[in-house]
Amino acid sequence: MKDPNHYANIYNAYEKNPKKIRVLDSTLREGEQHPGVSFTNKQRIQIAWMLDYFGVDQIEISPIVSKDHQEATKTIIKQGLTADIVSHGRALKGDIDISLSCDAKWCAAYLGISDIHLKEKLRISREEALERAVGTVEYAKSHGLKIRFTVEDGSRAEPEFLLEVCKAIEDAGVDRISLPDTVGILRPIGMYNFVKKVREVVDVPLDAHVHNDIGFAVANAFSACEAGVDQIHTTIDGIGERTGIPPLAEVAVALTYLYKSPNDFRLDMLLDLSKLIEDYTKIVPYDSKPIVGSSAYKHKAGTHLAAILKNPAAYEPIPPRAVGNRRRIVFGELAGKTGAAYLMSLLGLKKDEAGAKAVAAGLKNLRMGDLIEIPLEDRLEKKIINDK
Ligand code: ZN
Repeated sequence: MKDPNHYANIYNAYEKNPKKIRVLDSTLREGEQHPGVSFTNKQRIQIAWMLDYFGVDQIEISPIVSKDHQEATKTIIKQGLTADIVSHGRALKGDIDISLSCDAKWCAAYLGISDIHLKEKLRISREEALERAVGTVEYAKSHGLKIRFTVEDGSRAEPEFLLEVCKAIEDAGVDRISLPDTVGILRPIGMYNFVKKVREVVDVPLDAHVHNDIGFAVANAFSACEAGVDQIHTTIDGIGERTGIPPLAEVAVALTYLYKSPNDFRLDMLLDLSKLIEDYTKIVPYDSKPIVGSSAYKHKAGTHLAAILKNPAAYEPIPPRAVGNRRRIVFGELAGKTGAAYLMSLLGLKKDEAGAKAVAAGLKNLRMGDLIEIPLEDRLEKKIINDK
């Protein structure tokens, strides 16, 4: 039989040589901006190690928040991890100095460039903002740092000014520019147009930092990639200001399976990463959350059970083991004849057509909803993982 995803793959129109899309994880910076979240230094170090082992390209942390954060940044940089540690702060020389005091090699600076940010938050003119942006980049470069510059609220900035800032910081030697949709107002085509505009005037590598206020974060991140971005910002479980940013699990799985982007992600760590954050923050991901949710691989309706028992690919895009999750089947009112027969075989009961029908009817008549759920493994799964 053909790969069950064969025709879907044709619609997806993979490129012959898909480009590498990198991941910057900001659980330690954006993630700590989620209401109620604050990690201890021990937890910050553990998260950094796990993210590095998972295979993200950059890990962002903000040493300017407190002495504790500064200490954590220093310690994480000392670990000599494979990922770049990006020390995040405002577009101020003082913040760059703090990054330098942590022995950072990479820093990030942000500056609001939309009219509302300039007028209401920063109370500076466009000219002053431009000068501050260029001055910050020049200062970082003169101290041997690599610097990413975030044109905060860029999606709502006047386009000509946005391009002027991007060109000026590129001339000043910036290493990457992050294009944020800070309030999550863009739709996917809007994100594409926003990135394209900048891509046409600068050559420096671009990041996408997109917020999920209307639920478009993951879609917008990938739309940005199609317009020329080569790094997506994520956090574990998507935690961040308000409704957060794209979750690492969705982004890493989409990059691997839907975009065929070359990477060395250990996808089978995804559930463990989510559990680690749940343990540290006490925020339980909703059960139907993609990839890591407790219901992400549960099958319940009788017709689904019948198919799953023969071949799980009938109702699964990718096997749960590949992302560290487990398949479970749920028996209850919806189990149907096949589910009932399977349940009987598990209990060592002789199964026949009439018996299975009676059990199925019994489950329905009990009106007790879902009665039990059990894990379901299969031999097929191994093969699918190996074929990846
Ligand atoms: Zn953000």
